[in-house]
Amino acid sequence: MLQAQTLQPPAKESIAHRYASLRERIVQAARGAGRAAEDVRLIAVSKMHDVATIREAVEAGAREFGENRVQEAEEKIETLGREPLRWHLIGHLQANKAKRAVQLFEVIQSVDSVKLVERLERLCAEENRARLSVLVQVDLGGEATKTGASVAELPDLIKSLQACERVRLTGLMCVPPFFENAEDVRPFFRRLRELRDEWREAFEDGRGELSMGMSHDFEVAIEEGATLVRVGTQLFGARDYKGE
Ligand SMILES: *Cc1c(COP(=O)(O)O)cnc(C)c1O
Repeated sequence: MLQAQTLQPPAKESIAHRYASLRERIVQAARGAGRAAEDVRLIAVSKMHDVATIREAVEAGAREFGENRVQEAEEKIETLGREPLRWHLIGHLQANKAKRAVQLFEVIQSVDSVKLVERLERLCAEENRARLSVLVQVDLGGEATKTGASVAELPDLIKSLQACERVRLTGLMCVPPFFENAEDVRPFFRRLRELRDEWREAFEDGRGELSMGMSHDFEVAIEEGATLVRVGTQLFGARDYKGE
């Protein structure tokens, strides 16, 4: 990932330091947009980082973490615990991993099909889980990301969620294509916000979370209304993809 390398903060900076400056940037971006800083939560994306590194982030104050893969997250969640932390699944969820995901994660941000919704509802009943917050991942086009529901699929997907007792729709999420210039991603963020506003009543809180913005563009996302920003590189440094 090219952007991960260009964005890598100096190695000597501690995670505590990076966390503090990241929080400060989030606060400034929220204020600049006339929003309350408390309305933007940081999801620390800890994929490809080990337990010791994540623990440093916990000590610095991070409470919500994002992981892409159920299998990779398993050991981390078991070691670090689910309370007071909140673990978000932000990567594509395969059917055969859904049961484990229901056991491990507080929030699943990558729901993208009616089939998956029905499976999650069934698994929650089996696992005696009274509620599971989910976001629908929307594929806003522009690139073959392969994951996410298309805008055309949203009505059926939301209908299936409204029929659920345990699976609760709390917001929308997107992973737009990467642009060198973060400004270029703004229309995608705006589109997601419009969709969220359009479906306002479908969300559990009657408002809806917006999960959008990563290391290189979270400030633009906050300006466009993000309530959850998913930041990895700016907090943990570049990920080492060797052997992937
Ligand atoms: C990896 C990842 C992130 C974080 O990306 P950074 O550029 O490292 O901040 C956010 N969201 C998703 C879905 C990811 O896969």
